[in-house]
Amino acid sequence: MASTVSAVPAAPADPNALAPEVWPQGAARDAEGRLVVGGVDAVALAEQFGTPLYVVDEAVVRERAERFREAFDAAARRIGSQATVYYAGKAFLSTAIVRWVTEAGLGVDVCTGGELAVALAAGADPSRLGFHGNNKSVGEIARAVDAGVGALIIDSEIEIERVAEAAARAGRVQRVRLRVNSGVHASTHEFLATAHEDQKFGVPLSRAVELGARIREHDSLEFLGLHCHIGSQIFDAAGFAESAERLIAVHAELDRVAPVPELNLGGGFGIAYTEADRPAPIERIADGIADAVAAACEAHGVRVPRLAFEPGRSIVGPAGVTLYTVGTVKPVPTDDGWRHYVSVDGGMSDNVRTALYGAAYTVRLASRRSDAPAALVRVAGKHCESGDIVVDADWLPHDVGPGDLVAVAATGAYCWSLASNYNHVPRPPVVAVRDGQARVIVRGETEADLLARDAGIDASDGIEGTPA
Ligand SMILES: *Cc1c(COP(=O)(O)O)cnc(C)c1O
Repeated sequence: MASTVSAVPAAPADPNALAPEVWPQGAARDAEGRLVVGGVDAVALAEQFGTPLYVVDEAVVRERAERFREAFDAAARRIGSQATVYYAGKAFLSTAIVRWVTEAGLGVDVCTGGELAVALAAGADPSRLGFHGNNKSVGEIARAVDAGVGALIIDSEIEIERVAEAAARAGRVQRVRLRVNSGVHASTHEFLATAHEDQKFGVPLSRAVELGARIREHDSLEFLGLHCHIGSQIFDAAGFAESAERLIAVHAELDRVAPVPELNLGGGFGIAYTEADRPAPIERIADGIADAVAAACEAHGVRVPRLAFEPGRSIVGPAGVTLYTVGTVKPVPTDDGWRHYVSVDGGMSDNVRTALYGAAYTVRLASRRSDAPAALVRVAGKHCESGDIVVDADWLPHDVGPGDLVAVAATGAYCWSLASNYNHVPRPPVVAVRDGQARVIVRGETEADLLARDAGIDASDGIEGTPA
């Protein structure tokens, strides 16, 4: 799962410090102590765009996308192959992000008609898109096929016929992968490897040979290879290596019938949400996976296929921060002292990961630095829900108070994409920063947006009108 709430982190030597592994590369404090991201200071951002505000450092996204592509490609070339990297759009999808990652040489994975629409609206080359999902509608399949999507990832036996039919109807040969579950489930430094996995995605590995043959019976389908995705927030290569070994045994069987050009090992590469998180550098993970693939291919006497990967979180997560304005602060007695509840103007509507997964985050003062001693804080949102926590436990200068801006690090992935309108809170805008410039890439919602879908309001009266 996600980075989970552990023990309370140790009090930092300096609660103003910005740990480089947690904050976007290059984030710093200016002479006045204000947080600066992408060359733009947090106070200026809050004044111009309001809070809460999602801030994404464009250069960091682009650099990470390039770094991942190069790391996987270098590792694959070392074992006589090549790698394709797809950005998993569900982490955070907008047309700007699609352009950044495609310009860095990545393909894009989508898993609904809506995500496909965004990728196409951004001008992505359809042949470099993958379409996932355990329950794609017949309409979505037809749309993906008609758009010329590079690959559909078949997730169940039923989908073989559906995709074959859609492709035949469109007069195309559709490339497909077959999603299997390898029985390996990984997170951070651990993985669990079982024979069977009780989960909704994919088909059991034990059926892959049979279903691969079924795919090959259709003239309208072209079988690219196996696909699997073993988890999220994974810090090293071990789980991927185990999964690759299991897949390659089956890949080799399929390859004996006809060449299987590709093996897709999915995403799930971890990032640092707090200083306690220590993901291995992606180059080392890529090398570890490549070594395991090369060894397994040799053992099974099969050519090393082209490798494919699907990072989402690890591309955009570290590039994002969320800015909030503090409204209230209250000390609450606990069994071992005091905890300061710092309430901010957003919450589970803009970041549900803490409530949903017990995720851990890092918070810092963004509008100033302070010499006050550190106090243990819990950053709470404004929603009518006691589980509405943004940062479960971290330390801020003791004098944090109303009007201060705070920043939460590593919010680039699975925050905006999981945002809601709970309590009719409008979703915040997303601002991209780069070289000292800020621009809106997704506009924020207004109350008018919230009311616009309410069918009980007479459109001709406008939102303030009362029914006649
Ligand atoms: C979610 C998902 C990803 C991306 O996972 P991250 O943890 O964001 O890297 C990649 N592939 C598939 C099939 C997924 O479902």
